[in-house]
Amino acid sequence: MTTNRAAVEIPGLDVPKAKRYSRTRLTVLLVGTAFSVAKLTWFALSGRSGRLRLATRARVPDPRLATPAYVAVVAVLSWLSSLPLGYLGGLRIERRFELSKQSDRGWLLDQVKGLVLGLALQVPAVTGVYWMIRRRPRDWWAWLAAAVVPAAAILSSLAPVLIMPIFNRFETLRDETLRARVRGLAARAGVPIADVFQMDMSRQSEKPNAFFTGLGTTKRIVLSDTLIDRFEPTEIDAVVAHELGHQVHGDIWRLIAFTGGLGFGAAYAVHRLAPPLVRRTARRSGVEDIADEASLPLLSLVMILIGFAASPIQGAFGRAIERRTDRYAMRLTNDGRAYGSTMRRLASLALADPDPPAAVVFFLYGHPPIAERIAAAEAFERSRSAAAETGPISTAKGLSAATAVR
Ligand SMILES: [Zn+2]
Repeated sequence: MTTNRAAVEIPGLDVPKAKRYSRTRLTVLLVGTAFSVAKLTWFALSGRSGRLRLATRARVPDPRLATPAYVAVVAVLSWLSSLPLGYLGGLRIERRFELSKQSDRGWLLDQVKGLVLGLALQVPAVTGVYWMIRRRPRDWWAWLAAAVVPAAAILSSLAPVLIMPIFNRFETLRDETLRARVRGLAARAGVPIADVFQMDMSRQSEKPNAFFTGLGTTKRIVLSDTLIDRFEPTEIDAVVAHELGHQVHGDIWRLIAFTGGLGFGAAYAVHRLAPPLVRRTARRSGVEDIADEASLPLLSLVMILIGFAASPIQGAFGRAIERRTDRYAMRLTNDGRAYGSTMRRLASLALADPDPPAAVVFFLYGHPPIAERIAAAEAFERSRSAAAETGPISTAKGLSAATAVR
């Protein structure tokens, strides 16, 4: 099935190149997943996970350190084994499609930072999971599920402040005129913001971006340099209005609540699926109980399976939120034309596939395909100008007609 292919033209987009890019990315994703499954299966069933657990237990000075030590070693090994494909998919391919100018050195430095950060987050989190499994063998999954919402809330509020500055530089937006424009738009949306920031996203990617960071009075909007440099002011308005839409609708809390719901289902599924898997493979793996930290590769396999099953639900949720946010942004700026040209520019700068296969959208797309978003902007613009022609009295009707189009 195709989406609005005939209806939408994207002049700046090299369609065959965009198709090649999305096929290449899909291949990397599939190969990467197959590799992870093979790697985890081998690590568990060859008995290596069990032997590694014995070796770490023998070396730590305090038995309480056995689980975190095992988790740390596994995290480092996993990082090392995923470097080659990460280099190919994350850097070489991006560079070949002219979507990144990052050097090998810069990329590797980001990977090392990622490893340190991963260790700081994963070691306590996974140790906590095993602690809970041992303490409450019957209902550990419910306790962990209950922790998902606070963990997601803490992480999403801390990430922009503590994590993102590790990888990029943030500063007050230098362009005063643009800053005033963004502030004006935020005021019209009724979203109080402390400041407008810019970040050097071009270090990693040519793709443009914008997002909110901080909470309450420290709330700031961040624009990537790739957005500031390449988009017209009215197009930047469109992007900012979209981000304001997420704020006005409280989408971050919706997302956290949704993640909490999914986390509950996922934890219950692990609780049901993992113990029989561990028991059945015990002879080969040397691991008899999920409370044993050496069950980690088997638990990870179950998590991959659950993640695969949950991805269409996550995608559909994300696409619904994005559609609503697009509509809000067009109403706020009252400019479907700028919205459409923003989407076209995004498509050509990010090499978006104009009509991705329906199965790919179903499993992987957290946003509607770009052609659908452009078509929505065109429909908005048509009913806006129709409303303008019939006089100011029918403007409100015109706007509601535009929102009813999709
Ligand atoms: Zn969005």
